[in-house]
Amino acid sequence: NTFDGDDSGDRTPRQTPGMLYSKATPTPVAAPQLLAWSQELGQDLELETPSREDVKVLAGNLVTPGMEPYAACYAGHQFGNWAGQLGDGRAITLGELSSKNGIFELQLKGAGPTAYSRHADGRAVLRSSVREYLMSEAMHHLGVPTTRALALVSTGDKVLRDMFYNGNPGYEPGAIVTRVAPTFLRFGNFELLAAQREKDKLQQLISWTIDRYYPHLNGEDRILDWFREVVSKTAFLMSEWQRVGFVHGVMNTDNMSILGLSIDYGPFSFLDNYDYKFTPNTTDLPGRRYAFGNQPSIGYWNLGRLANAISLLFEDTSPLETALESYEKTFWDYYYGMMGGKLGLDTVGKEEKELISRFEKVLSELQPDMTLFYRSLADLPAEVTSEEIMDHFQDVFYKKMDASASEAFISLISDYSKMRKNSSLSSDAAREMMNRHNPRIILRNYLLHEAIEQLENGNDSHFRKLQEALKQPYAATGFEELVQKRPDWAETKAGCSMLSCSS
Ligand code: AMP
Ligand code: MG
Ligand code: MG
Repeated sequence: NTFDGDDSGDRTPRQTPGMLYSKATPTPVAAPQLLAWSQELGQDLELETPSREDVKVLAGNLVTPGMEPYAACYAGHQFGNWAGQLGDGRAITLGELSSKNGIFELQLKGAGPTAYSRHADGRAVLRSSVREYLMSEAMHHLGVPTTRALALVSTGDKVLRDMFYNGNPGYEPGAIVTRVAPTFLRFGNFELLAAQREKDKLQQLISWTIDRYYPHLNGEDRILDWFREVVSKTAFLMSEWQRVGFVHGVMNTDNMSILGLSIDYGPFSFLDNYDYKFTPNTTDLPGRRYAFGNQPSIGYWNLGRLANAISLLFEDTSPLETALESYEKTFWDYYYGMMGGKLGLDTVGKEEKELISRFEKVLSELQPDMTLFYRSLADLPAEVTSEEIMDHFQDVFYKKMDASASEAFISLISDYSKMRKNSSLSSDAAREMMNRHNPRIILRNYLLHEAIEQLENGNDSHFRKLQEALKQPYAATGFEELVQKRPDWAETKAGCSMLSCSS
């Protein structure tokens, strides 16, 4: 590591000005047990299924020679406000692994306190670890840029949590996820150095980031070119989240990857009912800053914080502002391309855009199940009467429609059907295209909730089933029981719809 870090090994929570990291040794746990191992990712990293000895590493009980565990120091804007120094409070990077597929950072999440743990314990509970593990892999198989999860280990230790889950404080089983990404660098790493006016270190971190992760950028304005690429990657990610109905829940700038990956899975949720105002994060009420429909504009706002940080290196900041402003067009280009895919339209021009706006308007009012709706839409017969339309979609709605609502819905679907007929794509080609853009199986919060409850009681059957099913989210058949609306009981139950940050 070429950066200034604090190698004291001191885990007392503190400010570490000018440091990019602090050495952090994982704290051993009582009785580590491997609960899950991502076979495909292991193969990509050229790792064998872990032995008993390896599991000690995955639990933080063993640090092998060559590992130099550390916690990164970063800052960030949380819920719109400057939060100052944050850092890896419960994540410890073991080091980098070089494989035929590149170099990857391996990080233990929940392996005990670091210099950045502030008032918290550096641990993670089984519940949140299962969520991160399954969701990272689910996103990967959906084709959405994401950090990965290699292993899930239960620790045999109990962790005290006082949060909304079950309504009472109490002890929960602890766990550790091994996360993998080319880098876990966030916007917040850059914001930290800018806030501390560490101009040289900021320059050094940016150069290093570009050399390693954006090596094709070597022109005169490489910082600007780099920022433009971060803008584009972020815009793409936002459009991908809109495609699959993913709500991150805590889009603070410390949770924004510099590579445009989905990172830091906490109180996330997929949409069940198509509600643009839905936020899964109880801490985000009543503001709903991180609601589904807000994510693209929050992506832009967060890029503004990054631009502001790197502006320290610019005498004339206007090119940086122009680069930031390119977000809007870039996002809409991705978005309309993506919506074309969801709707099975080969071109998206003025008329198609108008229809897409109507879809958004009507769907946000009627709030069908997003996932079931789009898969049903793909199967819409070419010629349909009004009655057939209502029949075709009857299972995708959560609530009854009144006459004017069903009229708006029928008119929308009829117009869409005409547009599809006039498109140059055959109906088979359109359906095929739609089924590649619209997942059939998503990791719904209530499914996760059931799997976690079982796991806490020593039964992993539901977990295993999800792990398998999520590998083929677009497949036409299989796992029928997972392809259903959220059941009524799950709508208000804690952990099935809403969650809190502090898990
Ligand atoms: P998050 O909202 O999950 O991104 O967390 C914000 C900050 O709090 C990050 O810097 C985390 O490392 C830290 N943090 C969250 N949970 C814990 C914990 N249990 N122990 C220590 N630090 C934590
Ligand atoms: Mg975080
Ligand atoms: Mg987190």
